Amino acid sequence: MNVVKLAGTVWLAHDGQRGIIVDAARKRQLSALKSRIESLEFAIPLLFLTHTHYDHAGCAEALQRYTGAKVIVGAAEADCLRQGYTPVPKGTHAFSRVVSDAGHIIVPGQTEHYNPVTRDIIPVDTKKDLSEYGFDAQVLPLGAHTAGSIGLKIGEHFFAGDTVFGVGGVLYPPFADCPDEIQTAWETILNTQAKYICPGHGRMITREQLEKQYHTRYGNRIDTGRAPARKSKIYYESKMILRIGTVVKATFGRPRHHIN
Ligand SMILES: [Zn+2]
Repeated sequence: MNVVKLAGTVWLAHDGQRGIIVDAARKRQLSALKSRIESLEFAIPLLFLTHTHYDHAGCAEALQRYTGAKVIVGAAEADCLRQGYTPVPKGTHAFSRVVSDAGHIIVPGQTEHYNPVTRDIIPVDTKKDLSEYGFDAQVLPLGAHTAGSIGLKIGEHFFAGDTVFGVGGVLYPPFADCPDEIQTAWETILNTQAKYICPGHGRMITREQLEKQYHTRYGNRIDTGRAPARKSKIYYESKMILRIGTVVKATFGRPRHHIN
């Protein structure tokens, strides 16, 4: 599977015959996107939206018109997509909270609007295999950044949307509606065994980079993906003991403060 960034938040995964476009940038990036799409010599049956913020769904309606793609979206945001409106999220730390609040005051509602998508929508609210569309790929609900954030595992790549931030080296998203879910979202991503992670913003990162920041922030151990393919009973039992240990630590241990 070849993976390239087309423009803005938009990625393309293709095998030279067919491809999936991931995310749809902001409205003003349409002409740049259009010229990239027009030069493609293969079919795009699917447009995958990691979530529906204006900078990820801005050109979704136009891309669907150009390609005829069906649009995969998290079920919790399907109505946002149909209406062409998704509120911007809260900041996860003091500075991004100020930016988020200021955005609402300076341009109330305006930046959050985009052309609605009203047809051929595939809402997803649970793990979904895309083999029925001819792709060896899986959709995984992530939440965290928005209630309906979803990720896409295809080949060695995982498209994480804004649950991972690829700018400036700190992968923790500066904006999230459900920050309590970021740890679980990162675990979901790491457990897919994907080697490369494609964030909505910034460049592709390696699994090791995310794993390192996961441990720095959350401390506890996760399944690193180095367990054998056929896992023994002992493996599952020891994993359960580790999980119980984590719950006990979280319940009775000293509280940790991740976000300042
Ligand atoms: Zn976003």
